[in-house]
Amino acid sequence: AAIDPAAIKVILGEIAEETLALRRVGKVASYIPELAGVDPEGFAVSVAFLDGRTAEVGAVGETFSIQSISKVFNLTLALGKIGDVLWRRVGREPSGNAFNSIVQLEQEQGIPRNPFINAGAIVVSDVLLAGHEPKETIAETVTFLRFLAGDESIVVDKAVAQSEKATGNRNFALAYFLKAHGNLVETPDRVLGVYFHQCAIAMSCRQLARACLFLAADGRDPVGGRRIVSAQRARRINALMMTSGMYDASGDFAYRIGLPAKSGVGGGIVAVVPGVGTVAVWSPGLDATGNSLVGSLVLEKLVQRTGWTVFGGR
Ligand code: GLU
Repeated sequence: AAIDPAAIKVILGEIAEETLALRRVGKVASYIPELAGVDPEGFAVSVAFLDGRTAEVGAVGETFSIQSISKVFNLTLALGKIGDVLWRRVGREPSGNAFNSIVQLEQEQGIPRNPFINAGAIVVSDVLLAGHEPKETIAETVTFLRFLAGDESIVVDKAVAQSEKATGNRNFALAYFLKAHGNLVETPDRVLGVYFHQCAIAMSCRQLARACLFLAADGRDPVGGRRIVSAQRARRINALMMTSGMYDASGDFAYRIGLPAKSGVGGGIVAVVPGVGTVAVWSPGLDATGNSLVGSLVLEKLVQRTGWTVFGGR
């Protein structure tokens, strides 16, 4: 059936109502003051369709810290840079451990399970940094996002980046451990300078949904008409998002929602509906697994009403 953005907007409005009371149930990330101070009532959901139309509800232009959602874009850039050689340094299996866990890294000789846990993302940042200055590498990610979103206003929130560094002892531990295993080319300090700034990029739901559209369209930006990655690579990035994108709840999320998705502790989630479009949702309150509580619920309800799952016979 043809998609009617107006009908989807009505559905989004209903879902926003139904989940309103739950916005204060989740816990806003508290490890840095910049995130702890975010209004838990903040809410937005933006659906971007392949033809450029959108269906939006809430504060869709309000920016928030994208945090681990940046890992999707960095992975895309790193694969573009060195290709499948990346997989010699990072695995493709779900971790079954916390996103910042160090245990597995020791068991598996410094090869992180996947590019979406912190250790894997730090290796990806190292790949992007190699031979450049941290400033250039940070700019590369920001420029890529501006290009994908068609929006030059995207920037790094410097205060968030600073706080990430000040509280980033676990990430330093991971980086030094990677270095000890020979899986980091640059110094932990330089790599994490890049990593923290990438996590601290601020974007809105509108920008995020738009920026991920290529993943719903076989690697081609369906609006701008430019190829971003090959169709095969887009499928593979989606597969990794499905298996590892939602922290240690990726299995449950696949069961409940059935879409490739990536979340961040800023309360954002981006989900990809291949052949249809993308959904970006933001609600800062997190569940026990670190995923936006209302965000997950919104996606679950949306999928129930639209049949947008990769496991159906659409
Ligand atoms: N900056 C956070 C960290 O590295 C990212 C958290 C996240 O969104 O998963 O700990």
